Amino acid sequence: MQNKLFINGRFVDALSGVTIEVLNPHDGSVITHIAAAEAADVDLAVEAAARAFPAWSRMAAAQRGRLLLRLADAIEANAEELARLESLDTGHPIRDSRALDVPRTAACFRYFGGMADKLEGAVVPVEPGFLNYVQRAPIGVVGQIVPWNFPLMFTSWKMGPALAAGNTVVIKPSELTPLSSLRIAELMAEVGFPDGVVNVVPGYGHTAGQRLAEHPRVGKIAFTGSTATGRSIVEASQGNLKRVQLELGGKGANIVFDDADLDAAVNGAAWAIFHNQGQACIAGSRLVLHERIADAFLDRFSALAASIRLGNPLDPETEMGPLTSAQHRDRVLSYVDVAREQGGQLLAGGKAPAAASLAQGYYVEPTIVQARPDDRVAQEEVFGPVVTVLRFGSDEQALAIANGTPYGLGSGLWTRDLSRAHKLAGAMQAGMCWINCYKRVSPGSPFGGVGQSGYGREMGFEAMRDYTEARSVWVNVDAQIAPHYRR
Ligand code: NAD
Repeated sequence: MQNKLFINGRFVDALSGVTIEVLNPHDGSVITHIAAAEAADVDLAVEAAARAFPAWSRMAAAQRGRLLLRLADAIEANAEELARLESLDTGHPIRDSRALDVPRTAACFRYFGGMADKLEGAVVPVEPGFLNYVQRAPIGVVGQIVPWNFPLMFTSWKMGPALAAGNTVVIKPSELTPLSSLRIAELMAEVGFPDGVVNVVPGYGHTAGQRLAEHPRVGKIAFTGSTATGRSIVEASQGNLKRVQLELGGKGANIVFDDADLDAAVNGAAWAIFHNQGQACIAGSRLVLHERIADAFLDRFSALAASIRLGNPLDPETEMGPLTSAQHRDRVLSYVDVAREQGGQLLAGGKAPAAASLAQGYYVEPTIVQARPDDRVAQEEVFGPVVTVLRFGSDEQALAIANGTPYGLGSGLWTRDLSRAHKLAGAMQAGMCWINCYKRVSPGSPFGGVGQSGYGREMGFEAMRDYTEARSVWVNVDAQIAPHYRR
């Protein structure tokens, strides 16, 4: 298991010698100690990336793509090891790491591997006699900062388009979950990525992250994390006016209408909030129910939530693992009190499970609270297995509730009425809307938010464009230009 920084193609200790304990969220045991990058280490990583940039950006795009395709193959060849590592480090149930995280990571690298030589420029019809063409040029060194909830998958969402487009990368995983990104770096070295093209610098946000965001040689910072940290990233980026891409928090509204297929909606709504213990920016954390079906829905939904199997993430039977840290578990549970203080009603869960086998881990039961749209528990991102139930009577009310937070990331609609579905999907202030499904992602489909959920898009051609600059080139083919200054 790699536990050092990856700089210029080598695993090295932090200059300060400082390390961070990485804990197993299932039982609080120490998995390993990792080197903690600080500003001086980040500087070395940025210098390595800057040195690697000219050759990498001039390499044939198809060759860059081939390296990404080889990486995707290497991920598949090491799938079981990566799945176990991710589950050990993050608490993802192994069945999800096997079925979702690892295949999605490989698929995303493969998608961008295939796209490397397909991002075309344009020829613009300007005045006769001139040729104007637009090239998509890489930005240079990009800094990428990721959170702890899907650390493996985010290596591909972030690095895939950046590398395919010809940039070099310094990526900072969360100090809580650095292990899978270090293993990806090792695989990248094995399949032949040149030294310095990718550098991985685990460390704390206020030191390593801050330095990366403010570094004058970093041309773009791509950040996934909380809205509060996103603001500090914007501030830190101002020194050299680097480009900023922000994937921030969410408070997804998942609306169930009275004509919905209730079996599908109950199951889909549970997946929307309880997958990965609710630690997902797109989680359907507001369950917005039509008053005519709300009680029947909640009976079935509560029964399903109570039956979800909590357990050791490495057990294939486990459907819900622990939260990522003790501190985060305490924060999530504090929202149950917040809800109660404002008159909210606890319908299920709201505490750590009683099982002795889970007592050392950071577990929280699937939790359902009923509240009002303006209550804190319905407005603030809890980022845990806590769903807030809200009721509505008309489509207009449902839409007002859905659009009634400062966030705008994921959203869902369950209805059999096609015209209502499309009409409302267009009116949702959200980057993604799922109709009769939830949490679908694909490397080709743009992912990102509006409002305080951030700006910029991951995946698809949108992401490739976000990692390039448009360069306009003018050629005088046979234009006669009248002299401006007649002498
Ligand atoms: P966080 O903002 O605390 O940390 C995210 C990353 O930023 C970590 O690597 C951290 O070390 C670093 N960081 C912290 N302070 C920093 C600073 N001052 N300067 C630079 N870097 C700093 O978020 P978290 O608690 O790790 O993750 C949960 C949050 O991430 C939630 O709000 C969630 O919605 C959001 N998220 C968003 C998306 C999305 O695509 N929109 C996806 C996943 C998670």
